[in-house]
Amino acid sequence: MKIMFFSFEVYPLAKVGGLADVVGSLPKFLKREGHEVSIIMPMHKVVEKNIEKYNLKVEKILDAFVPSFLSTKQRAEVYKTNLPDSDVSVYLVKNDYYFSDDQIYSSPDSGEQSIFFCSAGLDTLKKLGEKVDIIHSHDWQTALIPVYLKANYRDDTFFEGTASIFTIHNLGYQGIFNREYLNFAGLPEYLFNIDALEFYGQLNFLKGGIVFSDMVTTVSPTYSEEIRSEEYGEKLQDVLRIRGDSLVGILNGIDYDEYNPATDKRIKYNYDLNNLDGKFRNKTDLQKELNLEENLKKPLLGFIGRLVDQKGLDLLSEITDYLMLYDVQFVLLGTGDPKYERIFENLSKKYPSKVVAKIMFDVDLAQRIYASCDIFLMPSKYEPCGLGQMYSLRYGTIPVVRYTGGLADTVFEYDPEKMEGNGFGFRDYKASEFLMACSRAIYYFKNEKEHWRRIIKNAMETDLSWNRSAREYIKVYKEALRRVRNRNY
Ligand code: ADP
Repeated sequence: MKIMFFSFEVYPLAKVGGLADVVGSLPKFLKREGHEVSIIMPMHKVVEKNIEKYNLKVEKILDAFVPSFLSTKQRAEVYKTNLPDSDVSVYLVKNDYYFSDDQIYSSPDSGEQSIFFCSAGLDTLKKLGEKVDIIHSHDWQTALIPVYLKANYRDDTFFEGTASIFTIHNLGYQGIFNREYLNFAGLPEYLFNIDALEFYGQLNFLKGGIVFSDMVTTVSPTYSEEIRSEEYGEKLQDVLRIRGDSLVGILNGIDYDEYNPATDKRIKYNYDLNNLDGKFRNKTDLQKELNLEENLKKPLLGFIGRLVDQKGLDLLSEITDYLMLYDVQFVLLGTGDPKYERIFENLSKKYPSKVVAKIMFDVDLAQRIYASCDIFLMPSKYEPCGLGQMYSLRYGTIPVVRYTGGLADTVFEYDPEKMEGNGFGFRDYKASEFLMACSRAIYYFKNEKEHWRRIIKNAMETDLSWNRSAREYIKVYKEALRRVRNRNY
């Protein structure tokens, strides 16, 4: 099959969160299964920087054009490069008005930005004559792709036989705008309808992706069930239930070549399951780097992530005082809501020898934390898939999580009788429950060496590779194609 991905983030060209990792790695695995995959993304400023950093070849392939249907004079140029160390082609839609900021998501008008990209991206396929079987778009910024295909391009023979897949990486971000944006997009007025894009008097781009794509996927089986309920559905649960027979949860994988403690160049001492010495040396190194006591006996706890409500930071900040009673060390790496940045900075001032708050985005430090900590905390309120727990499992750092979404599909409570399980967790979103789960982890770390070794072994042996998930995507693509090609208009 010929497959084209549309995404705002692609690792390592532009990354804010897990979306980048998924779109940066899944294509490589689809290729290994024998399919042709390329990616279209915006030429964000940071992409230009990374092209230089990775010394990538880049060529202009389309001269400036005004994207179809749009009420604008803004023009798009298209460049082509490839993912570092791979032959996956990446098409870059360049426009300095919409993609001029260092931050990917800081555009003053993210609605226009998204529309501009979707329309220019589809034009790119047509202008290049790149007929594909599958168009796979990701998150609300690219959710209008299936809408354009089913509305404006409905009778266009170029897209005949092309199926659209839409993946929800996070239902919490939907792209909600007033109805005027339909005019800017050149989309038909009839879409402002409860069965299409209308959502409480406004337009909801994500809803468009859900309603108009041939198949919808999300990034873990548990999340795909949860989002059909009021608690997790973010007001779209009814639409998701209606599309229930087209909604599939496929767990993200991680790139085992890139995230391998035995070969990872971003950590100082490599290690594997049979010899964890390197892990412990990394730990004392990190303790030194963070000005913490260099002591292997002290549990070192880590948190990495966006500092937003979703990540359960209210619970984490609530229990930090209690955790300190266990004489642990704690490092937090993240940026986000200033409220949380302040709370954790204050906690690090309160416990200068025990708590370190790194309010920054630093993928290398993240890697040292995944490799060096003993315990990784992820008490998320909701978590579509979550990559942090996967990286930490792979590096033998034991996750303590809330069993929700992908966390429930990857972390399993340790059972000392059977010596099975790879972490600890809790279900009810309560600080006391989270504290209990942390206490269990700390207890095993401090008092049960044999069990702790076993938990590390189970963690590092958990299969989180892309191979299985890539095959599941292929099944979904085939089903979508079957539906499209059997359809009678
Ligand atoms: P989400 O996509 O909701 O942000 P995920 O757990 O799926 O959460 O993915 C987050 C990714 O971003 C992980 O690879 C994590 O290591 C990385 N990350 C988040 N915050 C930072 C940070 N401050 N510095 C470096 N990497 C970060």
